[in-house]
Amino acid sequence: MNILVINAGSSSLKYQLLNPETGDLLAKGLCERIGIDGKFTYKPQVEGKKVLDAIDVAMPTHSEAIQAVLNALVDAENGVIGSMKEIDAVGHRVVHGGEAFNKSVLITDEVMKAIEDCIPLAPLHNPANLTGIRACQQVMPGVPMVAVFDTAFHQTMPAKAYMYALPYEYYENDKVRRYGFHGTSHKYVAGRAAAMLGKKPEELKLISCHLGNGSSVTAVDGGKSVDTSMGFTPLAGLPMGTRSGDLDAGILQYVMNKYNMNIDEMLNVLNKKSGVQGVSGVSSDFRDLENAHKEGNERAGLAVDMFNYGVKKLIGAYAAAMGGVDAIIFTAGVGENSANQRLAIASGLEFMGVKMDAEANNVRGKETVISAADSKVKVLLIPTNEELMIAMDTAAIVKG
Ligand code: ADP
Repeated sequence: MNILVINAGSSSLKYQLLNPETGDLLAKGLCERIGIDGKFTYKPQVEGKKVLDAIDVAMPTHSEAIQAVLNALVDAENGVIGSMKEIDAVGHRVVHGGEAFNKSVLITDEVMKAIEDCIPLAPLHNPANLTGIRACQQVMPGVPMVAVFDTAFHQTMPAKAYMYALPYEYYENDKVRRYGFHGTSHKYVAGRAAAMLGKKPEELKLISCHLGNGSSVTAVDGGKSVDTSMGFTPLAGLPMGTRSGDLDAGILQYVMNKYNMNIDEMLNVLNKKSGVQGVSGVSSDFRDLENAHKEGNERAGLAVDMFNYGVKKLIGAYAAAMGGVDAIIFTAGVGENSANQRLAIASGLEFMGVKMDAEANNVRGKETVISAADSKVKVLLIPTNEELMIAMDTAAIVKG
């Protein structure tokens, strides 16, 4: 079974063709500058097939982009499948499913309408995701399509975790609540953690730390998300590459008055000029910060400390929320690669049964137990694979 996974942005489209049963990746790539001058990248994962690297392909709309993907996949010389018939279904990443979707769904006209209804909650992302779905429907008529939402995994949160302490009407009338994001990643690594530990998801209390350019931590109790650090938008929670994370809303009034800013300008600062970039003044990339700190830049060190401290506090909070924790998972760019940051985050948690194995921790990008053999709480490094999770969900739905 082959599933085409599509992640459509407003002018770009990432794709992967994979077999969810074996986990084999057949090809992946990227369409960029859609509606501008069209650049197409194709990376077949089969030996002897040629890579296309940002070649010129006319893509006035997403439809031509999808067509270019299909042409490459079935190409007589460099393709990885014989014909389009070998694509059993398409899985689409959709950012926001609001309260309408608590799991992945087969795309129907009603589902399209419901995704449209969520546009006010994700004005940049959902329209682009819808464009990608429509383009696929046009180019691949009759092929089943599934929507996989970033928010769906978190719909199991109890009201006490997702409500903001605002006038209740904002929730009732305007759907203002915590939604959470990175759900596909948290769900995937939670599933892998259960497999690594030889347990059923229902038996486990997990804390999943997705630490990348955007970061979120999720409490997963019995296979279900019960709390997560991102909120109504992905601006909440931890300080991130350029996002502030949580802050005292009173700061907005103070800074906006002082610098004569409007709310759009303020939000631009919070989204694009804050986080570890804002604190360090050096970079949003944790590798740059580690290097700058080594060379004596104190603010770069402070930015990383603030981030690590934020993750540590969430681990403590979520262990308390669940009444314990069996395993802590590190994933995404920082979580998979930075041994130093994993150690900084997990050290000092010995009181709650977390004991790292510094040698085992000296690893990157590979499923590994990085806690000591006698650690009561297991610490796991698990590379995330959102595309595989999307393909697995899509296959499950198509098979019924
Ligand atoms: P995104 O949220 O954009 O998907 P990723 O999960 O790919 O991001 O994470 C990207 C981040 O991972 C980079 O900004 C970088 O800071 C961090 N990263 C990658 N490799 C390392 C490393 N070796 N050490 C520390 N941080 C790293």
